[in-house]
Amino acid sequence: MPAETPDPNHWKSLMKWPKRGVPEGLWRRCPGCQQTIFRKEAEKRLGVCPECDYHWYVPARQRIEQVLDEGTFEEWDADLQTCDPLEFVDKMPYPQRIQEEQQQTGLREAAVVGTGMIRARRVAFGVTDSAFIMGSMGSVVGEKLTRTIERATEHHLPLIIISGSGGGARMHEGMLSLMQMAKVSAALARFDRSGGLFISVLTNPTMGGVAASFASLGDVVFAEPKALIGFAGPRTIKATIRIELPKGFQTSEFLLEHGFIDRIVRRQDLKSEIARTIDYCEK
Ligand SMILES: [Zn+2]
Repeated sequence: MPAETPDPNHWKSLMKWPKRGVPEGLWRRCPGCQQTIFRKEAEKRLGVCPECDYHWYVPARQRIEQVLDEGTFEEWDADLQTCDPLEFVDKMPYPQRIQEEQQQTGLREAAVVGTGMIRARRVAFGVTDSAFIMGSMGSVVGEKLTRTIERATEHHLPLIIISGSGGGARMHEGMLSLMQMAKVSAALARFDRSGGLFISVLTNPTMGGVAASFASLGDVVFAEPKALIGFAGPRTIKATIRIELPKGFQTSEFLLEHGFIDRIVRRQDLKSEIARTIDYCEK
């Protein structure tokens, strides 16, 4: 046996792009074009593949850096923490799951909200992160977003929410989680009556109760290219209605064609596009 048998998993581990946390290794495999991409190159492009324009997941904190002017973000309600009203246990008790998610993501909950500037325009800002229990809308996410909308109403700020939620309601909180859809939507209705501008940005993935509430309620709805956007997943729908789904079903491009979203915006253009829309609406 040779002294140094190469570990067959060595390259695999280098190319692996972990779903969450700090990236490791020099290279990453692009799920869009299957090519091996120099990690620095992708990072320089805000997590977009230089070969095929695939948009990788970016964590909430990085998203804030990408969209808001440097050093302008002030977080709101950072200390809000969920309790365990149902004493829910799946593979582990809910409080333990929360603790593990917090350690893995460095986030306290699936949403980060606050205020900041976008090209020198003050905005109220929220982002949900799919790495934290699928970005699902538990009572803390709902409460944080609602308070953000209420502050935007009070201070007449444009409201920007970037959704990255693969899950809708958070089953661990049962009905309390479902209620958040109505609560956030009601706050948005009041915001709308006060004449506020809400720009909703959908990223991969935006599904379930998040897609079915605030994410779809923007005055203007942007989406990143090729994002998965929908309510139930394609497999569930196919199994329910038993017909072949159209090509590209539940992608940004499909939804743009059918009038569900207003514009597909590449990540590099997102900041400018939001600023331009705010100016256009004179908010
Ligand atoms: Zn690619």
